[in-house]
Amino acid sequence: MPILKNIALLATPRTGARQGDLLQIKGAAIVWERDKITWIGPERELPTGLNMAEVFDAHGALLIPGLIDCHTHLAFGGWRAEEFAQRNAGRTYLEIAQQGGGIMSTVRATRDASFDTLLSLCCARIQAMSHLGVTTIEAKSGYGLSVADEIKILEVYAAARSRTALTVVSTFLGAHTIPGEYHNNRAGYLELVIEQMIPEVARRGLASFCDCFVEMGAYSVEEARTILTAARTFGLELKLHVDQLSDGMGGKLAADLKAISADHLEHVSDTSIAAMARADVVGVILPIATLYTHEQPLDARRLIAKGVSVAVATDFNPGTAPSYHLPFAMLLACSMNRMSPLEVLDGATRMAARALKLGGVRGTLEVGKQADFALIDAPSIEQWLYHFVPNACLATIKDGSLVYGRI
Ligand SMILES: [Zn+2]
Repeated sequence: MPILKNIALLATPRTGARQGDLLQIKGAAIVWERDKITWIGPERELPTGLNMAEVFDAHGALLIPGLIDCHTHLAFGGWRAEEFAQRNAGRTYLEIAQQGGGIMSTVRATRDASFDTLLSLCCARIQAMSHLGVTTIEAKSGYGLSVADEIKILEVYAAARSRTALTVVSTFLGAHTIPGEYHNNRAGYLELVIEQMIPEVARRGLASFCDCFVEMGAYSVEEARTILTAARTFGLELKLHVDQLSDGMGGKLAADLKAISADHLEHVSDTSIAAMARADVVGVILPIATLYTHEQPLDARRLIAKGVSVAVATDFNPGTAPSYHLPFAMLLACSMNRMSPLEVLDGATRMAARALKLGGVRGTLEVGKQADFALIDAPSIEQWLYHFVPNACLATIKDGSLVYGRI
């Protein structure tokens, strides 16, 4: 069984601990068999009698659990660089959307893109993310907004799953916005989502989660409740985009619906935070989106103080978060959202796994968990996130196999 020695520091969240209370072992080693971790600890305590045929040298690097990006919009056609300039010049997200830009411009480009084009884009993006230490990715539909185009995106994710080593968790987001052809017929589009899309997605096992964008210009609380309640009857778990541009009591809605996560949350109210804590809804913060939309950053301390688990993700999408660089999002979570580097590592591993209902198998370095980990060229978590370099990841191991770099 493979053994990785000479790890200067192994840092991992642990099951049941409070956020940021990591296990840190100096001079560590890790042992795994096929895809599962079988031993971790100080190298000097390595059990005797291990087969030393497969010993690898970490050369004094930092070992962390594989990073988990629990919120992306991975499959899309085109980019929206012109909106970046417009927003920086003062136009708002809503103004841009009302003039045909925003999500609908990406919907047009994604509908025009072939299955093969989207698949090769996704595989290239997944591979690039693996080079940053990412081992699990959540990927949403939501740029199709017709039965055929939503299914196309989810089938792209299914194909990407079989062609790449990383875990890809699919989320159906047919309720991303109301497509242009239904602008005078909201009820008609809701009916399409509930009566056709959700049953088809569920019947074909194309998604684990159903998501809904609750915001002015997207879906109301009541519409989201109707859509997500229907999704639950088909066995889908729930996620929500909420309280990003205004407080819509979305965090409370997520708690009422017993959603797994409530994502964005820049404007979340204290009432919603209390409800999320009671219902154990993971709060997913997306600081790259906050940066690009010029929203006031969420003070994550408000959530952590009330006992809400906080995950950190990229929100990778062509409009408001055009970067899949999860360590960049982690840096921003420290500086913009007031989280400690240790809380942030927890947020991009254990808490992100919880936000995908994978907490029992991924997200920490513990015996019995999947052997997903990354070697980082830094002496500590603090130094890694503070001294930001384009890529500090030296190697990525996924389910026990090397998928990037060298060990
Ligand atoms: Zn999003």
